[in-house]
Amino acid sequence: MSKQVPIAEGLFTWPAENPALLCSRCQQCGIATFPAAQSCQACSGEDVAVEELPGRGTLWTWTVQQFMPKSPYNSNETPETFKPYGVGYLELPGGVRVEGRLTENDPAKLSIGMEMDVVFDTWRVEDNGDEVVSFFFKPVA
Ligand SMILES: [Zn+2]
Repeated sequence: MSKQVPIAEGLFTWPAENPALLCSRCQQCGIATFPAAQSCQACSGEDVAVEELPGRGTLWTWTVQQFMPKSPYNSNETPETFKPYGVGYLELPGGVRVEGRLTENDPAKLSIGMEMDVVFDTWRVEDNGDEVVSFFFKPVA
């Protein structure tokens, strides 16, 4: 039986009906860190709490990658099947920026400040049939 597995533990709630990205929020200064960490990147405080991030934000910056990604972000692509892909930072309410792949790779359809949803989809399929799931940013229709 093939199954769906998250690309990494602790990045987002999984399995979940409505998965959400997970950050750690410092209880001293309030700064959120993604991915969640044991201490605060701003003040080095160790009093942090994991919380779910909102599923919609605005595109802070982006680019279109013309080369194949390296492990562990590799997929089943080969130089023959590879297609350029969009990658960017989504700024989420609460002041955290998350880097991720975009579902859109047409520069004409991307602009800084546009609203995007966090969506979860298959990143690659392993040799045993397991689907590796990750998050993507998708323009709000
Ligand atoms: Zn802090």
